Amino acid sequence: MKAEIFPYLAIGLAKFFEKQDRRHPYPDQLRYSLNHMALAMSSKYPKTIEGLLYLLEKPLNEWWPGDLPVGFDGDMPMVEDGELSFEVLTYLEKLSEQENGYFHDSLLQLELILDNQRFKSLLDHLREKSLVDMHGAHSDYVTLRRFIIEHPFALQREISHVFSQTNYLHVTQVQDLYMKTSQIADILRFADSANAPKYWLCERCGPLRIKNSRLESIKSSLCEKNCPKNRGGWRAIHPSNQLSILRKGVHLRVFIPGVPELSLFNWLEEYQRKNQNWIENIVLWPGVDSYDIQVKFIDSVWAIDIKDHRDPYKLGSSLTGIYGEGNMHWDHGYYVYPDYREKQRLGYGDVVRQSSQIKGIHIISEEVFKQKVINKIKSLRKGGS
Ligand SMILES: [Zn+2]
Repeated sequence: MKAEIFPYLAIGLAKFFEKQDRRHPYPDQLRYSLNHMALAMSSKYPKTIEGLLYLLEKPLNEWWPGDLPVGFDGDMPMVEDGELSFEVLTYLEKLSEQENGYFHDSLLQLELILDNQRFKSLLDHLREKSLVDMHGAHSDYVTLRRFIIEHPFALQREISHVFSQTNYLHVTQVQDLYMKTSQIADILRFADSANAPKYWLCERCGPLRIKNSRLESIKSSLCEKNCPKNRGGWRAIHPSNQLSILRKGVHLRVFIPGVPELSLFNWLEEYQRKNQNWIENIVLWPGVDSYDIQVKFIDSVWAIDIKDHRDPYKLGSSLTGIYGEGNMHWDHGYYVYPDYREKQRLGYGDVVRQSSQIKGIHIISEEVFKQKVINKIKSLRKGGS
């Protein structure tokens, strides 16, 4: 079977997971690709949809009957935790960025791709404005990104209040990143211990949804050992029709990676408050997100990029360096990964460092990074550097 069938399967599967009931008729692209798979796999082809989903949860290279598609990691599955896998989402995003691509129109009908483009168009807009007004554009970007991370559930009036005062963003553009909770209330409402229906929020992975009659994270793989479910990190929210919720694509692409970035920034700011003589300034997402955090000590500048990937090999080989021209200049660069990755996988950091080709940037865990900041201040206090 030809690799050209693969994009149909990826698009068809994405459409299939978008449908609430997931019953017949299957999306055209899915039927088309399954017909080809059935021919190519003959007796190995699953007889039920459950069997098919089971197959799709295995790495692609274990079952794909033909040449592996370009742009998709064969070690990854197409379905994860009963949802479209992150690898498929990334694949579809890449496909949608190709100019005049063959699949352009059908990709633009996918919610996840549209969600992502809604945010990306705001980012592009602010980057363009930054050429003439870096300060105003950067301030808007920080306001927007922070708002998304701090308000995965938002009230209309909160959005109006904050974004009627920004330089280049309109209230309606930000509203577009959200949808009304009433539209999907049946997958958000879950009874608390007093049997009252509530919405639920995890402090690490955001709004929770009901899957297989249970409350679950939007990205269960992130939460294996990280989700603070039993440590008070899951909070009930009073369900109101006035509430909006982040669209799924924005939740996955903007909220989730932003949580550890904002949390490290908050830690640094708190630390700066006690050490004002030694840290001049801390900038979140400098240069409209050239990198994550810039720390200006009195004698040098540090640049930090936070990276959270399950696979340390892929993370290491994907690192390309931290931008450092003009105001983005730095003396010491750090790639920082969350501590829980070391707990999920022994030797995680070593693998990232060994797989990386980057010279001159430290790759360390959050804990080690914080210790470096503490040591730096100690040494400045002693008159060193
Ligand atoms: Zn969680």
